[in-house]
Amino acid sequence: MLKVLKFGGTSVGTLERIQNVANIIKDKKNDGHDVIAVVSAMSGETNKLIEYADHFSSNPASAEIDMLLSSGERVTSALLSIALNDQGYKTTSMSGREAGITTSDAHTKARIENIDVSNMKNAIADGKIIIVAGFQGVTNNGRVSTLGRGGSDLTAVAIAGAIKADLCEIYTDVDGIYTTDPRIEPKAKKLDKISYDEMLELASLGAKVLQTRSVEMAKKLNVNLVSRSSFSPQTPGTLITKEENIMEKPLVSGIALDRNQVRVGLYSVIDKPGIAASIFTGLADANVNVDMIIQTVGVDGVTDLDFTVPKTELDITKEVMARFENDAKNIDYNEEISKVSIVGVGMKSHAGIASKAFQAMADENINIRIISTSEIKISMIILEKYSELAVRALHEAYNLDK
Ligand code: ASP
Ligand code: MG
Repeated sequence: MLKVLKFGGTSVGTLERIQNVANIIKDKKNDGHDVIAVVSAMSGETNKLIEYADHFSSNPASAEIDMLLSSGERVTSALLSIALNDQGYKTTSMSGREAGITTSDAHTKARIENIDVSNMKNAIADGKIIIVAGFQGVTNNGRVSTLGRGGSDLTAVAIAGAIKADLCEIYTDVDGIYTTDPRIEPKAKKLDKISYDEMLELASLGAKVLQTRSVEMAKKLNVNLVSRSSFSPQTPGTLITKEENIMEKPLVSGIALDRNQVRVGLYSVIDKPGIAASIFTGLADANVNVDMIIQTVGVDGVTDLDFTVPKTELDITKEVMARFENDAKNIDYNEEISKVSIVGVGMKSHAGIASKAFQAMADENINIRIISTSEIKISMIILEKYSELAVRALHEAYNLDK
């Protein structure tokens, strides 16, 4: 098998940990697999380099930032290669350019445009273990570029897709994806398998584990992803794969919590055609990510409109909404809310999933402010202070601890 193994910053955070990663790679190689490892910078390194740049300028050129930040990953790849080589393994480290990764010229947030795998294929044919510096490529102008924070995951998935690897294992300090955040519900269980779409919906659970863009790319390129821990390499992780590969589809796979939402309410909005269009066009033009939208049935020529936006986009939202002050009696913003979501591909084909969630909230006396559903998700806006209670109640209602 050809395996792409990606090791995050914590997994390579010290020299001992780099040695530990070398041991994991050795085991794979000794089992007869070909290995391409993709590495992050040692933890804290990228932030340190950004601070160094800040010392000299509040507005450094992004191409220089890329030159600077790409060095972090190169350090790790070279050290890991040296460590393995010293133990008798044939290895080669590669920069993004050497790995054949070309990107757009949007420095600090470049997109991968192409991967020429010939260099990597030759090295594998020579029996070498390849250690690629993650998070970087080269622009068409030949300058080094980086892919945005957390971009090493993307490097790993893109390489796995381009070279048609059998598996892409993402090693972090967490041993997989759980039914919910174990800090909220200690009975949370590690999932064996989950579909790409469920993983994307559960992003708030997996955000620290897998970069969202990389899951989207894995879905597009059909890359089987495994989330597992470099600190307990014997523990099998969670396989993230296409739905067809999951035989027993659970009705509900997990419960996600998002505390980063604000509810915007417009009361007594004049009920006339075009008002929703102009509000949401205004927000879209300002790049605000509107999530849930509710409009009540109009009475006496007015209606109420509620929607949610991320807390980080509240200021810009307020600026846009100021334009509509005369269209509504009042506009208010509630930051003390959170969104709990139930996610599962089994919902597509089963009835009664939603009513169970609402009953669980009713039993705990939690008032649901907004509900929205998609094919594989039910989301509810509740008061933030009930977040943990709601997550635990839902986890129990769907027997996720069993
Ligand atoms: N070192 C980069 C970062 O900290 C990329 C990565 O770790 O994936 O964002
Ligand atoms: Mg990282």
